[in-house]
Amino acid sequence: MQLAQQHPQVWGTQGIHPHDADNYDDAVEAHIRANAPHEKIVAIGEIGLDYHYDFSDRAKQRAAFERQLQIAADLNLPIVVHTRDADADTQAILRDFVAHLPKRGVIHSFTSGQALAEYCLSEGFSLGFNGISTFKQAENVRDIIALTPVDKILFETDSPYLTPMPYRGRKNEPKYLPFVVEQVASTKNIDLDTLLPQVWQNSMELFFAA
Ligand SMILES: [Zn+2]
Repeated sequence: MQLAQQHPQVWGTQGIHPHDADNYDDAVEAHIRANAPHEKIVAIGEIGLDYHYDFSDRAKQRAAFERQLQIAADLNLPIVVHTRDADADTQAILRDFVAHLPKRGVIHSFTSGQALAEYCLSEGFSLGFNGISTFKQAENVRDIIALTPVDKILFETDSPYLTPMPYRGRKNEPKYLPFVVEQVASTKNIDLDTLLPQVWQNSMELFFAA
């Protein structure tokens, strides 16, 4: 919030990451509800489920996800979803709320399976791709990129993590984003002059549409 208020080119989200779901309580929820209605806050997120690391209890992760989906519904904000190794529960919970989320949102750093991808796309969500798309072993992610319509693709850094090839291992920065863009263009066999303005428009419509 502080960075967003200080810098005109920075916007933020409000939410509790699944890693921290054990700490979600009424006071935290009140804080999010009080701070999210702000001109520099464009979404509720990252919210979701992470059964890969299991840093928080899974039942608490599900409860925090559901309660924050209700916040997004009440405030009419899009969502930024973090989901890892939790495809079935993510889909089941989204299914309960999707009718109340007219602005939908993005499944960020998408590494889930094809079934969840197809469900989210069918409901109008976007999928976010980052440096993982350039990793040699990430054929599964490139398969998802191939099936994602270009008007549902978003680019992200996940900085400081997930630096794309050939700089994997260094601290990530936005300056490395072109490697992600080039990978997606090549995977989809689409030229940059088509891809770049479309993805720009996708992000503007998701986060800045009235
Ligand atoms: Zn995440």
